[in-house]
Amino acid sequence: MEYDSFKKVLIFGNAGSGKTSLVERLERGSFTEGKKPLENEFITHKLTIENDQIKKLNINLYEIRIDENFNKNQELIDSFLYECQCALFLVDITNLESFELIQSLISNIEINKYPYLKMILIQNKCDQEDNRKISKEKFGDFINKNNSIESLGISSKDGKNIPELINKINIAVNESKNKLPSNIVSEAQGQKKTLMNVSGSLSLVLVGDSQVGKTCLVNRYFKNKFDASTLSNIGIDKDIKFVKIGEEELKLTVWDTVGQERFRALPKKYYQNADGVLLLFDVTKEDTFLHVNDWIKDVKDNSNKENDVVIYILGNKIDMPERVITKEKAEEFSKSLGLKYFEISCKINMNIPEVMARMIMECHMKNSGIKDVFQLKPAKKGEHRDRRRCCH
Ligand code: GDP
Ligand code: MG
Repeated sequence: MEYDSFKKVLIFGNAGSGKTSLVERLERGSFTEGKKPLENEFITHKLTIENDQIKKLNINLYEIRIDENFNKNQELIDSFLYECQCALFLVDITNLESFELIQSLISNIEINKYPYLKMILIQNKCDQEDNRKISKEKFGDFINKNNSIESLGISSKDGKNIPELINKINIAVNESKNKLPSNIVSEAQGQKKTLMNVSGSLSLVLVGDSQVGKTCLVNRYFKNKFDASTLSNIGIDKDIKFVKIGEEELKLTVWDTVGQERFRALPKKYYQNADGVLLLFDVTKEDTFLHVNDWIKDVKDNSNKENDVVIYILGNKIDMPERVITKEKAEEFSKSLGLKYFEISCKINMNIPEVMARMIMECHMKNSGIKDVFQLKPAKKGEHRDRRRCCH
């Protein structure tokens, strides 16, 4: 089964709000009474949803149990929301605290950081209307104040409004597919700085065969220029700029080889402190694609970050009609190596700011240790791993 790593959906809710039951309802269309609470703070599912309107929706779904401490942990919240297209905030209408926790969580989310995020407030357990502790007016007021959030009443027990919810999730993940908020990384004001006022640094290196467009990528990113006649000498070049992620300012250095990539003889020090590698090939030249593996080996042999260095494979020159390496082929190949693949054109400035922003963000999160939250404890037997869709 193919799961697109960009289709990330979150369910936030306090213990007992009905997260696991909602997952069961979405995945299998069933409901089981008396579930055990989550042992871990969060759990991930690879979920396939099929129904009349949707042929197949494969998503990575995170069930996240919130409490007061969670709500205060800004980094943790950000790391979950990173590259997420749809967040469901689950409230148990029979439990006041459940709504209070969701309200405090939402107030801690800097919504403008995530312009492509669809947020849905869910009033769960609507079958228990008689037991309702949070009035519809209260929900209404909250939604009026937070107008980017949608609201929906559901019941995982009797299935009320589940197709509507699935439809909303489907729209959210498909509309914002692969889009990274381009304002998430911005240029810092005033590029003349001392190290005193920046909070860290990032170093990226460019690799790939000669003539694939490495220097053009640097020129595009730093000067927004495309110059068809790039010089090719011997040496190493670097460009520096200061970028802003949220309130943090970082010094970004991008290293470009000047010529000696022809001999694939880049000095070890070129790679050594790199946080990220942009590995380019030319989609119109097969040999540059065939050499990608050699470049990866070079990176791994020389980087002192070993497996921690972020590598993106970039197919450049997609503006040219003479392409010989298809997107599918490059994607499949990159996937087999566990690496991300993007298509770019330096000439027409296609996908360059997006890819750079994503790379910077990913390296920054790795350096801040945020990636750890994605490393799950292995699931216990009988838990979600063993679940399979059944026919219904
Ligand atoms: P490097 O050797 O990897 O640094 O490659 P360069 O940046 O010097 O580019 C090599 C050649 O490819 C130059 O003639 C560029 O004009 C051309 N080139 C680079 N990027 C693109 C692109 O996106 N589209 C097209 N059509 N040509 C490109
Ligand atoms: Mg060059």
